[in-house]
Amino acid sequence: MSTVTKVHARYVYDSRGNPTVEVDLTTAKGVFRAIVPSGASTGVHEALELRDGDKSKWLGKGVLKAVSNVNNIIAPAVVKAKIPVTEQAKFDEFLNSLDGTPNKGKLGANAILGVSLAVAKAAAALKGVPLYAYFSDLIGSKKPYVLPVPFMNVLNGGTHAGGSLAFQEFMIAPVGAKSFHEAMEIGAEVYQHLKKLAKKEYGQSAANVGDEGGVAPDIQTPEEALDLIVEAIKAAGHWGKVGIAMDSASSEFFKNGKYDLDFKNPKSDGSRALTGAQLGDLYAKLMAKYPLVSLEDPYAEDDWETWTTNFPKTKIQIVGDDLTVTNPKRIAIAIEKKACDALLLKVNQIGSLTESIQAAKDAYAAGWGVMVSHRSGETEDTTIADLTVGLRTGQLKCGAPARSERLAKYNQLMRIEEELGDKAVFAGRDFHIGNKL
Ligand code: PEP
Ligand code: MG
Repeated sequence: MSTVTKVHARYVYDSRGNPTVEVDLTTAKGVFRAIVPSGASTGVHEALELRDGDKSKWLGKGVLKAVSNVNNIIAPAVVKAKIPVTEQAKFDEFLNSLDGTPNKGKLGANAILGVSLAVAKAAAALKGVPLYAYFSDLIGSKKPYVLPVPFMNVLNGGTHAGGSLAFQEFMIAPVGAKSFHEAMEIGAEVYQHLKKLAKKEYGQSAANVGDEGGVAPDIQTPEEALDLIVEAIKAAGHWGKVGIAMDSASSEFFKNGKYDLDFKNPKSDGSRALTGAQLGDLYAKLMAKYPLVSLEDPYAEDDWETWTTNFPKTKIQIVGDDLTVTNPKRIAIAIEKKACDALLLKVNQIGSLTESIQAAKDAYAAGWGVMVSHRSGETEDTTIADLTVGLRTGQLKCGAPARSERLAKYNQLMRIEEELGDKAVFAGRDFHIGNKL
């Protein structure tokens, strides 16, 4: 039997200690589980993450309504509808029709996504294939499989860490590795050196980690962060093999038409606020000095004008996250405006598997790259690791090589690489065109 006999949701906790939705979906093959992640620097155009808002419980972050929506609305409807789990698109369409709003605002994207992902796991089990292979078939991907370059966020700033650094993420990307295993080894070694150097240069507390497992020294400028990372790459003996990527997450510090690099200072006098053009000049300076290979959300989610004026000057991958929010409609605008050339794919930004896959296909059709991404609030769920391989993106970001909610995904990719052997290639320096390998 390929239909669902039971759906049960509960709340569990994510890596920041906030409640999140977990769904158990039962078919004749067993019980299939998915857990939903949650962002901190969320884009305003993301699908709605339903939170209870009752300040007396979990500071308003409860998900009891979303859990109840699964148990009392989605579960009986799904059991009655008898849609085969192998019909993912029909399933997701059905879930969307139960919600009936354009942003999953009634039932919550967190309620819908949990069910959508669990359906895929049930389908893979029914077909008797690993999840990545099921995704590959579902998407119609060609072979060989592609193992991604891990973009490891080793230095955390922005809203993911204390300290004053405005830019949110500084990632190392071992593009010169020969395999995913080697990329992880390089990343892990650089990370350990970085911790040592951060302690030496900024004191013992600098080795404390942020939400995504990266160090979080009290650094003021991106140059200081990049210098420290360069030093760590060299100390580890991997210079030349590692690219650096940044996610400025600049929507967080775009205020009154300017980008305030001092936004975390409550006493900011605005003297470090830059215009879009000045911020563009800063990026150009950083690109000239450091081995940058990818830049995400350089400008704010609705500052289309700066996105479109400054992009042509850059030679590296420019990734849309808050700009595009894994939403085919926003992606179409970004393609039309030539705002960026890569999509950050976060399944909970849009709230279903089918729409996430469509987002990736639209990006590919425009010649863009696709980087699959975790959220800053994560769990032990590893679905996105398999999705990355199924989509042949060639790149994903899952935080530092530290903290198990991050390693859960990287470790899953190690297992997949081992299992696939010579049926897979590693994207390496071609990470931007993983789907074309
Ligand atoms: C990001 O901005 O790319 C990110 C992973 O952070 P969050 O999950 O907080 O949006
Ligand atoms: Mg981002």
